[in-house]
Amino acid sequence: RAYNFNAGPAALPLEVLEQAQQEFVDFRGIGMSIMEISHRSAQYEQVHQETQNLLKELFNIPQGYKVLFLTGGASTQFAMVPMNFLQPGSVGAYSLSGAWADKAIKEAKLFGETVIAASSKEQKYMRMPDLSNLSLPENTAYLHVTSNETIEGSQLQSYPDTGNIPLIADMSSDILSRQVDVSKFGMIYAGAQKNLGPSGVTVVIVREDMLEKANQSVPTMLRYDTHVKNDSLYNTPPSYSIYMINLVLQWIKRQGGLDVLSKINRDKTSLIYDTIDNSAGFYKGCVDVDSRSIMNITFRLQTEELEKQFAKESEQQGFVGLKGHRSVGGLRASTYNAVPYESCKALADFMNDFSKRNG
Ligand code: PLP
Repeated sequence: RAYNFNAGPAALPLEVLEQAQQEFVDFRGIGMSIMEISHRSAQYEQVHQETQNLLKELFNIPQGYKVLFLTGGASTQFAMVPMNFLQPGSVGAYSLSGAWADKAIKEAKLFGETVIAASSKEQKYMRMPDLSNLSLPENTAYLHVTSNETIEGSQLQSYPDTGNIPLIADMSSDILSRQVDVSKFGMIYAGAQKNLGPSGVTVVIVREDMLEKANQSVPTMLRYDTHVKNDSLYNTPPSYSIYMINLVLQWIKRQGGLDVLSKINRDKTSLIYDTIDNSAGFYKGCVDVDSRSIMNITFRLQTEELEKQFAKESEQQGFVGLKGHRSVGGLRASTYNAVPYESCKALADFMNDFSKRNG
């Protein structure tokens, strides 16, 4: 298998792919694939509920929250959040931390008033904004944060306490990479295609009391209460992707849960960050040390030419996806949950070798 450092869709655990392969044409003895059966069937409903329950268990989701499996990607959540929760006379507060936060704000502006509660734009997003002393307007409907900026490679190290103001987080690129206190949040959402499973499904974890204040004049499919009332089975859900999430969650459980995974993630990224920091300036980490992400490691070399050479040679050695996002350039290694420690070790070794040969 390739050393897969893709930013998304991203690596899945080999065990999960093999299990899916085994069950592909005959799911648990029913003589059909899970993608061939009704979403109203007992067999599918069991998988659906099991997936919700596994997520609740592993992510320590308290009572009073619903787990939904929606479509349209995290990008549709950028619009659904303000559609549902932004009323006339209220404002949506945003932490402007990078390219994805910027997209979320642009969508909210289509519906109502927004305010930038904190920003790291002046630092070219090379760190997370300081959320420790926020002063939010009284009429703030919610504070939206991007937990991990996938493109720049920054990650919130802690979440702010927002009191009565609901905290909403886009955790697309770091959900389940570490334990968080879910009770702090009004809502969490994440496209599946990094840490949860294949693309095509977006997980939403919403506190039920959020729905009491939600707008009613929103199209049916775009209202959270539609999906909450119907246990995320209002229409045909992306059943195959949900089944794959189920397998990924079982895999996480077998690994020992999020505390174990987050330690492995830290060990994995330390290998690469240490290589950067010990390279006497050959490699330069893009993001301030106290905002570094354990999911997306961004770094540069002295010249773009050298970066191109690095990308090319790494591909020849079996590494995939190390080129930085086209909007920022440089290099990026995405080290999501399913990327094995051995892949990160191989990358660190390659980086050391490359710097010796070109330093
Ligand atoms: N938010 C973050 C942090 C992302 O990394 C991405 C995609 O990479 C998105 C949102 C958009 O997700 P989707 O492609 O599922 O709409």
